[in-house]
Amino acid sequence: MRKPIIAGNWKMFKTVSEATAFINEVKGKAEVDGVESVICAPFTNLPALVEAVKGTTLKIGAQNLHFEDNGAFTGEISGVMLKELGVEYVIIGHSERRAYFAESDEIVNKKVLAAFKHDLTPILCVGEKLEEREAGQTKDVCKVQTEAAFAGLSAEQAAQVVIAYEPIWAIGTGKSSTAADAQDVIGYIRGIVAGLYGADTANAVRIQYGGSVKPNNIAEYLGEADIDGALVGGASLEPASYIALVEGA
Ligand code: PEP
Repeated sequence: MRKPIIAGNWKMFKTVSEATAFINEVKGKAEVDGVESVICAPFTNLPALVEAVKGTTLKIGAQNLHFEDNGAFTGEISGVMLKELGVEYVIIGHSERRAYFAESDEIVNKKVLAAFKHDLTPILCVGEKLEEREAGQTKDVCKVQTEAAFAGLSAEQAAQVVIAYEPIWAIGTGKSSTAADAQDVIGYIRGIVAGLYGADTANAVRIQYGGSVKPNNIAEYLGEADIDGALVGGASLEPASYIALVEGA
């Protein structure tokens, strides 16, 4: 059985005091047996949040990492730094990073390998643009992105990757994919992992849907056979909404 995982992607929102106040409000509430609950926060919040979640089942993730451990990369943060803080997850290849920070499939793959090097669990984002969907290329895009990101991973590592299927046209737009469409693509992505590593690994990999998930639609996604949770932006920012998402899973 795959454990559902709800991950909040706070993007570039919340100061340290806002972030710790959020954790104090959701403690004991956004903690539901059988559901993993992860907050992916800006780098500046991470030390305080790792401290704030001690004694809870909440987990903390970063939203990016550099693939090198150290070096002349002004403004970057590495896996070795995140690991020492006690961060457990890291989002890799979010469409905003691919679009605004020129992250190629090759860079995404290096980041996935760097995450494993430092015992961080990657939340790997894949998904198509609106024009790709309209051109019938959704599955091709997901295949290319998934296969590139998994290059060089052992089967044991592959089984631990959390994939977030996020159609780009659905992110922050309020236009979510139907649960049936999301299931169709996510089932296909699981098949890609099966093609690379076999059925056991594919059945172990958790695949989230992301794109305008809200408390009122999360249950539809989680009701689908291959959807194991959600990566949530906007609706993860308010404590009540985040609690409802975790409860809805
Ligand atoms: C995201 O940032 O990954 C995301 C899915 O955002 P939203 O839930 O706001 O669409």
